[in-house]
Amino acid sequence: MDFRITEEQELFKKSVIEFAQKEIMPGAAERDEEARFDRDVWDKAAEFGLMGLPYPEEYGGSGASVFETGLAGEALGYGGLDAGFCLSWGAHVVIGGIPIWQLGTEEQKKKYLPKIASGEWITGLGLTEPEAGSDAAGLLTTAEKKDGYYVLNGTKTFITNGPIGEVFVVLAKTDKEKGAAGITGFIVEKSFPGFSVGKEIHKTGNRSSPTSELVFDNCEVPAENMLGEENQGFMGVALATLEWERSVMLAAAIGGQEVQLEQCIKYAKERKQFGRPIASFQAVQFMLADMKMWLETSRWILYKVAWNKDQGIMDPLMASVSKLFITEVALKAARNAIQIHGGYGYTKEYAVERAYRDAQLGVLGGGTSEIQRWIIGRLLVGR
Ligand SMILES: Cc1cc2nc3c(=O)[nH]c(=O)nc-3n(C[C@H](O)[C@H](O)[C@H](O)COP(=O)(O)OP(=O)(O)OC[C@H]3O[C@@H](n4cnc5c(N)ncnc54)[C@H](O)[C@@H]3O)c2cc1C
Repeated sequence: MDFRITEEQELFKKSVIEFAQKEIMPGAAERDEEARFDRDVWDKAAEFGLMGLPYPEEYGGSGASVFETGLAGEALGYGGLDAGFCLSWGAHVVIGGIPIWQLGTEEQKKKYLPKIASGEWITGLGLTEPEAGSDAAGLLTTAEKKDGYYVLNGTKTFITNGPIGEVFVVLAKTDKEKGAAGITGFIVEKSFPGFSVGKEIHKTGNRSSPTSELVFDNCEVPAENMLGEENQGFMGVALATLEWERSVMLAAAIGGQEVQLEQCIKYAKERKQFGRPIASFQAVQFMLADMKMWLETSRWILYKVAWNKDQGIMDPLMASVSKLFITEVALKAARNAIQIHGGYGYTKEYAVERAYRDAQLGVLGGGTSEIQRWIIGRLLVGR
């Protein structure tokens, strides 16, 4: 066992941090305030090579491992201070792009992955519906086969990159009598007749990442755009993305926790009360100690999930432990950060206020904490 990352990986992480500090961090607070996605920032990140990291080179990607893609996420979270950007990046690279790479036909991969890898076409995943959140397999969007097309009807909600995406992986019912075993994946382009972007959703945090409904009104999807096998979409997409989502998409939270701890240490050393820096009070040191403990444990759990995936080891229990632990301690750390900053932490003057709003999404999106506990509990007792 070797707990060190290689020199090459260290240099790569450093280069992404420097890129993020230069190109993403400036304007992050304003983008949050205005709930604005910035295409220029996206294009610069694409030019830097971040949009196709994990895909094979023949499809325009870099062939990075799960672990290395996660390192990029960690570096973006640390250097960019823009959780919204990281969310849009993760939805694009992971839950949008990975299913196409893992489940797509050769034609589909050749057609879509180079555009996704270059960042030209933004993508995302359309699973959640107004009546199907935690119970995702209870989705109501239907897909009926007719004359070489699947006709989709229904509405997706909370879709990251909804307003800006060119192409989405969408899950729909092809067999209404069956639950998860009656769901099929489709690659749906924005230009397909009957597709439209619905209501935009105004959020508490991650505000530079646009979120919306996607509406399918007799939307015609060519039969060749079915992704994977019919009625295998739910498990297919879940299996293709699970560890990617629970390592790479969480990695930004680790970088975010690290930079937040540094901000807190700096503030605690500068801020004086009772004639001394608040850093000298044991109560403040205890909060910092907890933050350090949460950061280091999160990092190694995440690295283990990524490493497992790179070795071809399936470990859904550990993937859920990772999701649950990292997101819950990130929220606790964000709360500590505000507490250490006192009243000033509760203002827009310091980034910790934004980080607290951003961190709340972690315990909700991609399967809530309650659902993760449910999965872990069931796997532990075997029922
Ligand atoms: C900013 C944002 C971005 C998102 N991006 C995407 C995206 O790109 N694509 C996509 O498809 N979805 C996306 N989602 C949807 C997200 O995955 C869902 O919000 C999430 O799965 C929870 O579903 P829900 O909001 O309907 O909550 P509900 O399922 O209604 O849950 C409400 C509460 O009930 C609890 N609960 C529900 N069932 C159980 C149970 N069996 N046992 C115990 N407690 C339970 C939940 O834990 C929660 O506390 C996004 C959501 C947000 C907020």
